[in-house]
Amino acid sequence: MSYEHIEVPDDGTKVSAEDGELDVPDDPIIPILYGDGTGVDVGPAAQKVLSAAAEATGREVHWMRVYAGESAREKYGEDVNLPDETVDAIREHRVAIKGPLTTPVGAGFRSLNVALRQTLDLYANVRPTYYLDGVPSPMANPEEMDMVTFRENTEDVYAGIEWEAGTEEVEQVREFVEEELGFDETIHDGPVGIGVKPISEFGTKRLVREAIDYALEQENKQFVTLVHKGNIMKFTEGAFRDWGYEVAREEYGDEVITEDTLWEERDGEPPADAVVVNDRIADNMLQQIQTRTDQYDVLAMPNLNGDYISDACGAQIGGLGIAPGANFGEARCLAEPVHGSAPKYAGEDKVNPSAMILSGRILFEYMGWEDAGQLIRDAVEAQIQSGRVTYDIERQIEGGERVGTDAFADEVVEQIEKLA
Ligand code: NAP
Repeated sequence: MSYEHIEVPDDGTKVSAEDGELDVPDDPIIPILYGDGTGVDVGPAAQKVLSAAAEATGREVHWMRVYAGESAREKYGEDVNLPDETVDAIREHRVAIKGPLTTPVGAGFRSLNVALRQTLDLYANVRPTYYLDGVPSPMANPEEMDMVTFRENTEDVYAGIEWEAGTEEVEQVREFVEEELGFDETIHDGPVGIGVKPISEFGTKRLVREAIDYALEQENKQFVTLVHKGNIMKFTEGAFRDWGYEVAREEYGDEVITEDTLWEERDGEPPADAVVVNDRIADNMLQQIQTRTDQYDVLAMPNLNGDYISDACGAQIGGLGIAPGANFGEARCLAEPVHGSAPKYAGEDKVNPSAMILSGRILFEYMGWEDAGQLIRDAVEAQIQSGRVTYDIERQIEGGERVGTDAFADEVVEQIEKLA
């Protein structure tokens, strides 16, 4: 495929897929989007660390710059925020990594992140939350945190069905709800905004399958917890729980059991080789991640619960500077750090690139490069332990030395070379 502004590397091979399985060459072309704001700092920093980890494990990444947000407006024109060719390039190459994109506050701006995830049907937002030794944490035992959150990415509040107070549309919806559906004493008189959230069987089941499949693949992940607010929203959040259990019961045979069976038949003792699916109400879950941290492994959630809970998990192990993430679809992955574009620090060579570097780790592991992923993790951890860290960590530890984004990445590369 030829592009207007995207330069395809001369060398390198495309990642392809057959029957939902990736075929990854040792010289893949990987699209990279640096992003807005501090994306210009963390993007190139992460790129060099990831290149070094690939090289240290006998591979070579051929990066292909793609554009969105400010970088797209500069290249394609003032009103182009998400060029079609950026979406096409990511779709065509199957795996990609991006930095943060700014969403201007105000009416009429759709989040570019949401647009990308929806256009590419990246239905699972996945965030592994694990502790790196040396990172300051508010918890007494931060090392107990080792959870992976699977957040549904295409429906619930992300479906964006809302009507503004004072509009003709909202009055039509009010009339329909009151007169046709009989909820005539439910909505207060006067101006009202109304939102509708869809949670479907299709959307729920494919997300829960991803979470269960992931737990089955990992040696140390036995519990998959469905997190919902089904006590209040019975036909959306409650349905998420019910469909989630249905997947577990109907599609996995003996490999997966539910919490009922665990208590009825096994007195709470899980079999060593089975994944256990249970469920928790979202508000309780927010407590449990702090009070019973080591009892949870994989959390599967509708969009809004996933938003709150994945950030709360991240806070327990050192916050946004190191929190990685990725979005998955059918044989596709778009990795991205959890943090935003922190515009006040843009271009200052100040912020922590670890979140984007560790997002690259997720991407590499998805590509089957576990050795490179482990190397990245160990190198970032060793660098943090050295005490030469970016401002966010330095300000919270005794005797640390502050380094910039670029120097931090260079030193992580040196750690990779030492560890390889
Ligand atoms: P933010 O950019 O994540 O920044 C909030 C704060 O988090 C920063 O002020 C900084 O805290 C800390 N932080 C963020 N990135 C860091 C890093 N790499 N290293 C160390 N600390 C870091 O959140 P925001 O200010 O609410 O959002 C800014 C823009 O980003 C908005 O337009 C938002 O829509 C967008 N956004 C994009 C994405 C995405 O692209 N996926 C995600 C979230 C937000 P201190 O100043 O306290 O040190």
